[in-house]
Amino acid sequence: MADQQEQHGAASRYDSYIQFLGTGAADCHDSPEFPHRLQRGESAALRIEELGGKNVRRYSSLYIAPDIVVDFTSHDQLRAHDVPEEWIRHILYTHAHPDHFQPRALLRLLHWASQPINVYASPTVLAALQFAAQYEWDPPVANFRVRPDWPRQFDPPPFPVNPGDAFAVGSARVSAVLANHQIDAANAILAEPALNFVFQRNGKALLYALDSAYFLPGSFEILSRFQFDIAVFDGTFGTRDIDPAASGHQNVAMLEDTVQQFRDAGLFRHNAKIVASHIYSEESHADLANLLAAKGIMLAYDGMRIDF
Ligand SMILES: [Zn+2]
Ligand SMILES: [Zn+2]
Repeated sequence: MADQQEQHGAASRYDSYIQFLGTGAADCHDSPEFPHRLQRGESAALRIEELGGKNVRRYSSLYIAPDIVVDFTSHDQLRAHDVPEEWIRHILYTHAHPDHFQPRALLRLLHWASQPINVYASPTVLAALQFAAQYEWDPPVANFRVRPDWPRQFDPPPFPVNPGDAFAVGSARVSAVLANHQIDAANAILAEPALNFVFQRNGKALLYALDSAYFLPGSFEILSRFQFDIAVFDGTFGTRDIDPAASGHQNVAMLEDTVQQFRDAGLFRHNAKIVASHIYSEESHADLANLLAAKGIMLAYDGMRIDF
C-alpha cells in the first residue's frame, strides 16, 4: 500500500527522472555570506529576495531517482524537494568546494541513516571527510581538537574515484572524467582532481559537468564515446566577462563554445536536453533563461525535473 501511495505523490521514487536540488554557485542563497549581503543592501542579493521563485538558488546538487545524490550539502535541500533521506543510498561528490561538499552534513547523514549509504569521491574529498570526522575547530586555543563523537571507520567504506574510472552506482553506470576546475592554469598546478560524471541507465546517458571550464582534451576524448540525452554544463558567470585561464567556470560565450564542440562531434542525441546550471547570484533567471533559450539551452532552476 505504501508503494501505491508513493506513486500517487508528486515525487515518486519509482519514476525515472533527475531533479535539481540546487543550481547556484558558491555565492548563492545557501552561502553564509548571503545574509550579510542582504544586510549591506547589495542590489543583486536584494533583487533575489524580491523576485524569489526561480531566482532563489541553493548550492548545486542533483537527485537522480530513485536513490542517488550528487554533491549532498544539507538535509534541508532534500526536504525542500520532498526527497526523504531514507531513499538515498548513493552519494557522489565532484570536489571539495563548500558549495558541493559539506562534510559535517554528510557525517550527520551517515551517522543517523538507517540504510547503508555508499559514498563515491576523489581521494582528496575522502581525506577531507576523514579529517572532518576526526577534528573540529576550537576557537579558544586557535587550533583543532579531536572530536569525540564521529566514528572514524565508515561502513560501507567510501569508494575512491579517480578520473577515467567507470563503476556501477545502483542501477546506473558511472564514468568519471577530470574537470577543468581547481587548476592553476598558468602554472599547470592541479590543486584537486575535481570530477565530472557521466551516468548511463536504460539506454540513456546524462552528463553532469559541474564545475568545469572548457573540457580538458583527455576528458573530451572520453566524453566523445557517449551520446547524451541530457548534458548539464557550467554556466556560472552568465553574461559577465571572465578570464578562462583564471575562473575554472564558464560564462555564456564559453558555454556556447562547449555546446558547439559537442554538436560538432555529434555527442547529443535527437531532442537532447542541454542545460546550464551553477549560476551566480547576479543574473536574473528570466533574463538569462530567455538568452539561453534562443541558443537551444535550458537554464536550470531549483526543483527542475527531467525524465531520465
Ligand atoms: Zn561550485
Ligand atoms: Zn568549485
